[in-house]
Amino acid sequence: MSHVHKTTCRVCKGTDLTRILSLGEHPPVDNFTDAEHIKDEKRYPLEVYFCGTCNLVQLLDVVAEEELFHGDYAYFSSASKPLVDHFRSYADDLKKEQLTEGDLVVDIGSNDGILLQNFVEKYRVLGIEPSANVAEEARKKGVETLDGFFTVEMARQIVASHGKAKVISANNVFAHIDNVDEIILGVKELLADDGVFVTESHYLLDLVEHMEFDTVYHEHLCYYSVKPLQHLFARFDMEVCDVRRVTVHGGSIRVYARRKTGEQVTESVQALLLLEEQAGLHSLARFADFQNEAEAIKDKLVSLVRGFRKEGKVVTAYGAPAKGNTLLNFCGFTAEDIAYVTDTTPYKVGKLTPGSHIPVRSPDILKTETPDYLLLLAWNYRDFILTKEQELRDRGAKFIIPIPNVEIV
Ligand SMILES: [Zn+2]
Repeated sequence: MSHVHKTTCRVCKGTDLTRILSLGEHPPVDNFTDAEHIKDEKRYPLEVYFCGTCNLVQLLDVVAEEELFHGDYAYFSSASKPLVDHFRSYADDLKKEQLTEGDLVVDIGSNDGILLQNFVEKYRVLGIEPSANVAEEARKKGVETLDGFFTVEMARQIVASHGKAKVISANNVFAHIDNVDEIILGVKELLADDGVFVTESHYLLDLVEHMEFDTVYHEHLCYYSVKPLQHLFARFDMEVCDVRRVTVHGGSIRVYARRKTGEQVTESVQALLLLEEQAGLHSLARFADFQNEAEAIKDKLVSLVRGFRKEGKVVTAYGAPAKGNTLLNFCGFTAEDIAYVTDTTPYKVGKLTPGSHIPVRSPDILKTETPDYLLLLAWNYRDFILTKEQELRDRGAKFIIPIPNVEIV
């Protein structure tokens, strides 16, 4: 069984589900391929649904873990300088507001220790990371890390070996989990009575307001806003006690949840709920034009790129992140349109992008070649990249920014 189509909402278990966006059938975004394996490529529906009961925006097509990724690819968060900076400031907030020295901090999906490395001096830390070679990198930084997926059983074992945690975090993984109930049950086992569970996920409000539809891919199952998260935690006698918007990944939301206390929650919770309400996120009507708006960006990009190609210009793409593959496949681009994509990840270099089959090259090629246009797939690092590539731009290369509006700089 490589793929299932759910018929109930992941958060409230309701069945009032309406499709709001269909991007077509795509291969999983991390399955870079080569000429020999193109024939084995499998595609699955990439469609987004709205729950009329709790208002969670989500995918219902769940692709089996082993189909999502086959290879030795490992994603190391710390390879990205903006992310390292982000997690340092995140850790500072937790130290200031939640922790006293010696407290235990547990991070679910801890990657290479990008968050926990900031606590090792004065606090106790424990990471949980399913990817063994990524976990090994964290241990080198002094971050004790368990291999595997977080479950209720694992939570009980941690309580026995380490005691209860004052902070449990789950960043950019909470939205990727199909069975969120298991995670929350585990959190309740492990969390100290006065502890907090903190998650960061891409925020639906940013997705909708900036048309970040390319952040839709099979691994990314939930597109959270505050309202469905309140619904989710309430089912487990917990409550959302604080929320913050953070700029990382094109706009994310950091949500703090605790055991229900009946005490006042911060004003930010009500403020964001109101903002979501005003933006229409709690109503199906808001999404009536979602498909058309995505198609409009696609049409613009396609006519631009194919127009340049007709003029004999060389168009390449810059960065091959997960969302880049959604955009390339939704636009139907191939190597005829985009000559190559540059990316720093060694695993990707020398392979072909999934679905669009565009060759991936090392960024070194840009030292000697000057494409006329580069489609910036990692648009969330726009300012960082435009500054970093000033020399390339001085040579005459122009960047095509796809999201939120198609523009050339
Ligand atoms: Zn629901």
